[in-house]
Amino acid sequence: MDCLFCKIAAGEIPSTKVYEDETVLAFKDINPMAPVHILVIPKEHIADSAADITPENSATVAHIFEIIAKIAREQGLDNGFRVVTNSGEDALQTVSHIHFHILGGGRLQEKLG
Ligand code: 5GP
Ligand code: ZN
Repeated sequence: MDCLFCKIAAGEIPSTKVYEDETVLAFKDINPMAPVHILVIPKEHIADSAADITPENSATVAHIFEIIAKIAREQGLDNGFRVVTNSGEDALQTVSHIHFHILGGGRLQEKLG
């Protein structure tokens, strides 16, 4: 499968890693939309997007959210942060490997959609 984030997870495409364990990788977004902009992905291609979360893969998604909280603490996002997951065409998803954006490090835009 020709998937950019699978290649990043496999180390075939370099990334600036922020966190890694057996199942999860977090790395800096190449085109940051906020002072802190980190992507958190499952290393395995368990879903294309949030539309594909099922009882079979939701434990990994829950683990990802634990890691998001840990990363937010480590990045000093004590005053708040936003977690975004774009799903599908209307949300302008560009990489079809489920991922969660952590955005913070300053006051974010009010507009979400
Ligand atoms: P989406 O639009 O699918 O929600 O998010 C995809 C994100 O991946 C975008 O914010 C984009 O900047 C980021 N991105 C695309 N290609 C690369 C890459 O090669 N390396 C990194 N670190 N981020 C990427
Ligand atoms: Zn993938």
